[in-house]
Amino acid sequence: MSLATPVHAPGAVPAPPTVHDVLLAAHRLEGLVVHTPAVVHPELDRAAADAGAQGARLVVKHENLQHTGAFKVRGALNLLLGFDATARERGIVAYSTGNHAQALAHAARHTGTRCTIVMPTAPNPVKERAVRRLGAEVVLHGRTFDDARARATDLADNTGARLVGAANEPALVAGVATATLELLGDVPDLDVLVVPVGGGSGAAAACLVAAALAPGLEVVAVQAAASPAAHDSWRAGELRTAANTTRAEGLAVGSGFALTQQVLRDGLADFLLVDDDQIAAAQRAYLTGARTVAEGAGAAALAAVLAHPARFLGRRVGVMCSGGNAGEIELRRALGA
Ligand SMILES: *Cc1c(COP(=O)(O)O)cnc(C)c1O
Repeated sequence: MSLATPVHAPGAVPAPPTVHDVLLAAHRLEGLVVHTPAVVHPELDRAAADAGAQGARLVVKHENLQHTGAFKVRGALNLLLGFDATARERGIVAYSTGNHAQALAHAARHTGTRCTIVMPTAPNPVKERAVRRLGAEVVLHGRTFDDARARATDLADNTGARLVGAANEPALVAGVATATLELLGDVPDLDVLVVPVGGGSGAAAACLVAAALAPGLEVVAVQAAASPAAHDSWRAGELRTAANTTRAEGLAVGSGFALTQQVLRDGLADFLLVDDDQIAAAQRAYLTGARTVAEGAGAAALAAVLAHPARFLGRRVGVMCSGGNAGEIELRRALGA
């Protein structure tokens, strides 16, 4: 077992949060995040039945309606609310073009924390603008995420700012877990909960909460087949890297992470894959059947139900719609799917 030797995170792997940490996070976040609705959409149940999952009853957890358009803001706020004045002054550095960056920029503004985001040059202009608008400093560097990561690490070393990674971060996992906590409070009788995976924080969070509060609930993870590092790591029982070519930005991660894999190893009932066209079809189902906008990553859990219907026959299924930050081109493609 090589879970103790992370591929990317330098140094020791922190311990996962406890369910007590999740309760503390829920308390901290009260009034600062949206208690997002958990909604039954009859047209999605029909789509599931048409796909072969007869009798499946879906409940969608609408984190696409969360502040900044994704569940990640729960983790970012939980982390930064725990900073003291010195840590806020030193600030944070992160590398991302997507929802991680927006979530941290939002939380940094809320808490008065300095925030620098390193993006590869020529980032998605919509996301870059959103991060700048939230008041973060944006540094454009390098062609790839690896370049941006190296620059972010240097900046942290030179300035004393805290480098905030995407997955080996217990405070992010504890904060993100409040989404599952809300869902189980609103819908305590789910049989299965399907959660999309990039670095695995959201799924690890779901496993922690389910183990404590709903031990009969199966947590099923889903990843893009074009970026299957977490899936491959879970199946192999050791950290793996993998190709990383999915269009779904929130799922575009090229390696497994030690902290989340450690939780997923015991907590997950299953780990499914969906391809990018199946994700686009699920985005279309959300648009037409639920009148709701999901970005690719946000639609992956529904895609898993539609692509693997036998697993969900007759069951009450929680579907994590994790984010809604879809660009115009992506939405056009989805409607054409
Ligand atoms: C980041 C993200 C994911 C993946 O979450 P992880 O915690 O990295 O596994 C899924 N959906 C959306 C919308 C995201 O932004």
